[in-house]
Formats: sequence, C-alpha cells, structure tokens
Amino acid sequence: MHKCKVIAVTNQKGGVGKTTTTENVAIGLSRQGFNVLIVDFDPQGDLTSCLGWKNNDALEHSVSSMLDDYINDNDINYDALILHHEEDVDLIPANIELADFEMRLVSVINREQTLSNCIEPLRSKYDYIMIDCPPSLGMLTVNALSAADEVLIPVQTQYLPAKGMTKLLQTVNKVQRKINSNLKITGIVMTLADLNTNITKSTIDTIRESFGKNIRVFDTIIPKATKASEATIVGKSIYAYAKDSKVAVAYSNLTKELVNNQKVKHKEEMSR
Ligand code: ADP
Ligand code: MG
Repeated sequence: MHKCKVIAVTNQKGGVGKTTTTENVAIGLSRQGFNVLIVDFDPQGDLTSCLGWKNNDALEHSVSSMLDDYINDNDINYDALILHHEEDVDLIPANIELADFEMRLVSVINREQTLSNCIEPLRSKYDYIMIDCPPSLGMLTVNALSAADEVLIPVQTQYLPAKGMTKLLQTVNKVQRKINSNLKITGIVMTLADLNTNITKSTIDTIRESFGKNIRVFDTIIPKATKASEATIVGKSIYAYAKDSKVAVAYSNLTKELVNNQKVKHKEEMSR
C-alpha cells in the first residue's frame, strides 16, 4: 500500500535552520529515489527563493492562492500550482500573500485543517511531503501540524532551547489531543553547530540529556558552514553546490537516519 509521510519542519524561533533543513532533507530524500513535494508555508517565502524562485511575489499561483481556492470552494489547479526544481523535487511556493492567512483563517470553518484538506489529494502522488513552517506558533504552524504525520524540530546549538522547546511541545501536544491524534515527533536535529567551541559541545550534551529520554535526538549534527548559506543564493541544494562538504555529508546522513527510523517504525507497526 502506498503510504505518504507528511513532515512539518517546525520551531517558532527564526534562524535555526528550518528552511535549510527542509530543502536539504527533501532533496536528500529525492536523491534516495523518493517522490518528494515541498510546501513553503512561511510568508517570507525563503524556501521558494532558496530553490531559485527569487521573485516569488510575482508568482500567480502559490500556497496562498491554493488556500484561497479551497476557502472559496473553487477547484485547486495543482498542475498550475506545483513547480518542479531541477534536482527533482516539486514545490508549492509561498510569498508574502500568505501573511494575510494568519488572520483570515480565523473565520474559516475547520480552519486548523485547511492546509491538510488542500494537500490530501496529493498524498497519493508523493512518498514525502515536507512543510517548511514560519517562525511562530500561530494559525499557520497549527495548520502545518494538523496536516502532518510527523514534526521535525531543528534547534541551534549555541544555547539551550529550554523555554522555547516547552512551548513548542505544548503546541504539538494540543494539536495531538484536539485535531490530529496521529501526529508524532520525528525528532530533534541540532543545526548550525560550531563544533570547535566548548560551549557548543556542552549544549549538545545537555540537549541529549534533557530531551533524549522522551524525544529522538538525531545522531547527525549539522555543522555551521558558509557553504550552506552560499548554496541557497544560487538556488541549489548543498549536494549540488558542494557535494563533498561536511554539511552535504551531514544532511545526507540525516536523511538516511530519517529513512531508517521510519523503516524501524514501520516494522514495529506491522508486528503489532
Ligand atoms: P530558519 O528557516 O529557521 O529561519 P534558515 O534555514 O533560513 O533558518 O537559516 C538561517 C540562516 O542561517 C540562513 O541565512 C541560512 O542560509 C543560514 N544557515 C542555515 N544552516 C546553516 C549552516 N549549517 N551553516 C551556516 N549557515 C547556515
Ligand atoms: Mg525559514
């Protein structure tokens, strides 16, 4: 049976590597032979521009026109909406128009499930759908969590994300209880790590100690490296931009960990 996994990449803090992780895990999965769709769900449209659509405000179709069509009971024209990137991933792009929906969704029936309903027909076409979330825990992120099977949480390693994590986990828990009981936490991935400093090393240990009991903390750590940000400027993944760099190897390893993790889970489910 075909099973699609929808993974929301979430953290209400900006600059922790959500967009970079969404892009490079998505393309990593595609390189492993999976059919992958990326949904840019941040009004900043960073992911859309990282993938090369720099002038995203000029796009006629975007994630916000999709939500508009759904709310107004119009058919969604997925063919016109979905862009294809040369590294073999599909993209539903975003631009600043999405910002209006934080408020506009409030008056919509089943507002939390709007994104979920929009992407439901696409589940049969993809193995993975990755959603890049905005840096907030508002209506857009709740929509992403409601649409998702799993949440992947990037955290930065400069300092302890204690309070922010508590709030994020509370939101995940609320969505689990009220809207989407299937939602699981894929795990925490540590990003932007400056592995030469002692403070980073001790933060890494503390993150593993404080969260590792309840949540998977991925073994792979994404190092800080200028190549990661350079790649986004030229609209490429880290694999196409600097294939042998440490960041490329790290993202490739993270992708493998993620896939293996799902295989194990699938086996567990089958044997129940
Ligand atoms: P978020 O989506 O959480 O705001 P981004 O993925 O946009 O975070 O990353 C924030 C900034 O850090 C961006 O300018 C990005 O290019 C840069 N960046 C992301 N990952 C790395 C990394 N591993 N090394 C260096 N810079 C990075
Ligand atoms: Mg981002």
